[in-house]
Amino acid sequence: MFLAGLTGGIGSGKTTVGSQFTLHGMELIDADAIAREVVLPGTEAWRKIVEHFGDSVLDEQGFVDRPALGGVVFADPAKRAVLNEITHPPVVAEIANRLELLQAFDGVVVLDVPLLVEAGVGRGYDAVVVVATRPETQVRRLVADRGMTEAEARARIAAQAPLEDKLAVATHVLWNEDTLEALEAAADRLAAELLALAREKVERETAEIPNN
Ligand code: ATP
Repeated sequence: MFLAGLTGGIGSGKTTVGSQFTLHGMELIDADAIAREVVLPGTEAWRKIVEHFGDSVLDEQGFVDRPALGGVVFADPAKRAVLNEITHPPVVAEIANRLELLQAFDGVVVLDVPLLVEAGVGRGYDAVVVVATRPETQVRRLVADRGMTEAEARARIAAQAPLEDKLAVATHVLWNEDTLEALEAAADRLAAELLALAREKVERETAEIPNN
């Protein structure tokens, strides 16, 4: 397996790049999607969330209302830490499960982790792809597409690691300052590069097996 971490700031274009990569036969593990699954009603994390934060963070069907919970923890670092303690272990365990299942896969596995840099880039990545967008562009897109106010968008961006920190750990950078089509085309080119690196890794590993 060739493991590529995919990260970038909020609204930078990670999801767009991740889906484009899957068109090239890459396996995508989406940490954000897993984070939604582990808090589905009835799970242990869901019970703990209700216990700590009350019913007001649930919607009418009993699902965790992410914007409501986000609003609560965003304003309070201690509450954010409690939420992280509840949700991180099952997310980490599920990512480990999926990686285990893909152990024998000889292509590229893309692990989309929005907070890869904030969490401390773990070892084991063969490549780290950063989707980079200038804060001004992020604000513009978050206001236009997500209905945030400019102040909300700026606060969310400020709560994440600065772009420079992300660029510092990147092995590959995809700038997303042009059109969506340009981003997809850049992702296609990078996919070809990553697939070539994955093939080289397989060849290296095969050559290292004695009597081969
Ligand atoms: P989040 O961190 O919030 O999950 P993300 O990094 O996954 O976001 P996307 O969902 O890919 O980012 O993109 C965020 C929004 O910005 C989407 O609505 C997407 O269509 C739009 N967008 C991304 N890139 C561009 C672009 N180059 N031009 C115009 N809109 C774009």
